[in-house]
Amino acid sequence: MIYDVIIAGAGVAGTVLAYLLAEKGVSTLILEKTALPRYKACGGGVTIKAVSALPFDIGEIVVCKPVGGELCYRGRRYIRRLIPDVAWLVEREELDLYLAQKAVKAGARLLEKIGVVSLEEHRERVVVRTSHESYEGRFLVGADGVTSVVSRAVGLLQNRCMGMAVAGEIGVDQTAYQQQGAYATFDFGAIPHGYAWIFPKREHLSIGFFQSTPGKVPEARKTLDEIITRFPHLKGYRLIRARGHHIPLGGKPQPLHKGRVLLVGDAANLADAWLGEGIYYAIQSARIAAQELMQNLHSGSADLENYTARVNAEIVEELRRAGIFASIVYRYPYLGTALMSRSLLMQEYVFGVMRGDYTFRQFNRLLLRGLPQILLQQLGR
Ligand SMILES: Cc1cc2nc3c(=O)[nH]c(=O)nc-3n(C[C@H](O)[C@H](O)[C@H](O)COP(=O)(O)OP(=O)(O)OC[C@H]3O[C@@H](n4cnc5c(N)ncnc54)[C@H](O)[C@@H]3O)c2cc1C
Repeated sequence: MIYDVIIAGAGVAGTVLAYLLAEKGVSTLILEKTALPRYKACGGGVTIKAVSALPFDIGEIVVCKPVGGELCYRGRRYIRRLIPDVAWLVEREELDLYLAQKAVKAGARLLEKIGVVSLEEHRERVVVRTSHESYEGRFLVGADGVTSVVSRAVGLLQNRCMGMAVAGEIGVDQTAYQQQGAYATFDFGAIPHGYAWIFPKREHLSIGFFQSTPGKVPEARKTLDEIITRFPHLKGYRLIRARGHHIPLGGKPQPLHKGRVLLVGDAANLADAWLGEGIYYAIQSARIAAQELMQNLHSGSADLENYTARVNAEIVEELRRAGIFASIVYRYPYLGTALMSRSLLMQEYVFGVMRGDYTFRQFNRLLLRGLPQILLQQLGR
């Protein structure tokens, strides 16, 4: 059998794409190298713009809908503000399983524990070799994450700019859990060129850090232990587990397809250098891929030029602008924290971009225009 589309990887990008294609009657096969649910190092923060970009509701698997945010600098709290509807929190393995089930219900076929090993491109189809047998598709999508076998096989994105993130968990008692409350904590003084987070989950807290530059990676456990000691309500608690991974930072336009193969999500380098957010861009690239693949299947052509052009214009350009803001905040983290915690205008912009009220293009312009007022709000305190 020749599938219309074969997708390597059942993360957010692969499963959302499979759902969008299958619900339109496109024969779709997902090959996933692990068995679902699988552990994925992640803070599980799904911004409201990502929630809105999903083709269906994920309310039933959300573990916390934070009522607000807390901004700290090296453990010292600068502001705790009620501001709902910025992001929802999930357990990442539950989210990916849920998305995969949606794709299968829509008609996609999912094969687990089957990793893509190599591929062979022909004029009309792609032969995908796996750890078991071979499969054939008219198109192949690399949704296989930051270490994408597919991108390497076709020679795309050879030199990736990588950030790093580590996610851990701490089991706390009721008192500490209540002290955290339904607030998402961000600490921009925790590590150089990045931030630490504390997110309330179902019965524990997620703690982690993101580093936006390649450079030297801090020792994961030691860094997380240090962060824990700075927060009074976490003193004495120990990490249950901690795992890190690279985050591919986008911002440079590059080819994202070759012949009948295209890349989405982390495989296409689509995470931002500001918060390390990747889920939203995985969904966005899946949406664009679905439209472009259907167009090609409909017309019988194999021209994915438009996919690369659209992702570079609609996503990569946004990531470039996110990178500009990130480089300023991470160069002057104390000033950034002070401005973000004292200026209501700046808070509106920061939360607005997470909600999807503004693009990063609008956000940077608004910041520049609002700078005098933001500085006045800072001086007025
Ligand atoms: C510690 C950490 C915390 C993060 N926290 C957040 C956050 O809170 N919010 C946010 O928006 N982003 C976060 N990110 C980024 C986010 O996790 C990624 O951007 C996102 O997972 C990208 O989704 P994806 O579907 O492209 O790739 P992935 O989620 O990595 O999925 C790729 C899938 O492909 C499979 N696969 C790999 N190789 C093969 C193969 N050869 N054949 C078949 N299958 C294969 C993998 O098993 C996996 O299931 C975080 C990242 C890290 C490292």
